[in-house]
Amino acid sequence: MPDVVFSVDQSRSMRDQAAPGHNRWHPDIPAVATVPPDTSIRIECREWTDGQILNSDTAKDVRDVDLSVAHMLSGPVAVEGAEPGDLLVVDILDLGPVPQTRGEAPGEGWGYTGIFAKENGGGFLTEEYPQACKAVWDFRGQVATSRHLPGVRFTGITHPGLFGTAPSHDLLAKWNERERALIATDPGRVPPLALPPLEQGVLAGTLGGSDLERVGREGARTVPARENGGNHDIKNFSRGSRVLYPVHVPGAKLSGGDLHFSQGDGEITFCGAIEMGGFIDMHVDLIKDGMSKYAVSTNPIFMPGNVEPRYTEFLSFIGISVDHKTNENHYNDATLAYRNACLNAVEYLKQFGYSGEQAYLILGSAPIEGRVSGVVDIPNACCSLYLPTAIFDFDIKPNAEGPRRADRGRCAVAQ
Ligand code: ZN
Repeated sequence: MPDVVFSVDQSRSMRDQAAPGHNRWHPDIPAVATVPPDTSIRIECREWTDGQILNSDTAKDVRDVDLSVAHMLSGPVAVEGAEPGDLLVVDILDLGPVPQTRGEAPGEGWGYTGIFAKENGGGFLTEEYPQACKAVWDFRGQVATSRHLPGVRFTGITHPGLFGTAPSHDLLAKWNERERALIATDPGRVPPLALPPLEQGVLAGTLGGSDLERVGREGARTVPARENGGNHDIKNFSRGSRVLYPVHVPGAKLSGGDLHFSQGDGEITFCGAIEMGGFIDMHVDLIKDGMSKYAVSTNPIFMPGNVEPRYTEFLSFIGISVDHKTNENHYNDATLAYRNACLNAVEYLKQFGYSGEQAYLILGSAPIEGRVSGVVDIPNACCSLYLPTAIFDFDIKPNAEGPRRADRGRCAVAQ
């Protein structure tokens, strides 16, 4: 086992660990460890909300979740000799839930998928499904099942939702400028267009006092992916993957967390995949001056590993960039097209007895494939969603007999 460079006691908040974590991106957050290039390390992670979501049958915890503390990240880990302009080469050697499963924190034998309430987080289908809901998953080896989603069972494609390097002061200022400009186009929107820096809930490792207040005023929220990597939520960042992160500050300062037992492309429920705490083993190395050598000037590049569930039969749903309620045509809008593909899949699954919320939870967590199929056939972008048929213990394929409707239980709700 590689040396643990960031350890987590799953029974404690990230504020109370031997080395506290952080929940904003800022170059001044001090490194917790420094390692030479060509080193393997283990990083332990707490679930992204710092353990606010419980193994229970109510979604009040999701409805009322305090998002000012998210995401709780482990690190930063500095790499000796890393300089701005280098590429940090991160090989994902292994990852998984918490090895000891005696406690109550997510990752200790279980995880969850939530649908955020529209007023507190929202999600990809928040207009159709504005209420908070939750499904709790039990892990057995690589397999996940849920008492809230009977009839579904699948092999997870385990991955970190969020890893990245620290931004420079200049890059951080650029992020804040462009995101504030976006927010200003519709400042009252629910859910908001973006999340500006927020002093409430800020954690920045060992920083306190005025240094901590400054990180709260300037530090970027961790929700989106940006030029440092960040919250990619790419399900294929699994074992065997090699990710090449741009380096923006001396030492690179790698941090991350938000481990997922499984996720569908798009992480459409936002809260999100199957969320858990756990461990990740990585090998870190450098390509000196790699950003200019490979023209990696904005976002990371990566090579997926070859470990993933082997599903070979899919039922695919198609969506186009049309608002079918109003018959309004949107020009080549791939986001709208994918949303329609998701809604079409939800309506189909409802015919078998699932609620819309249960279907939404399945699409957020199971290893579905989302594809941008066409973006040139004016005016309609076309996206498709590939749902593996074998994750259901009944036949979901269409036939002349019609769908086999049954009692599919219920997911946890907030009432
Ligand atoms: Zn996540």
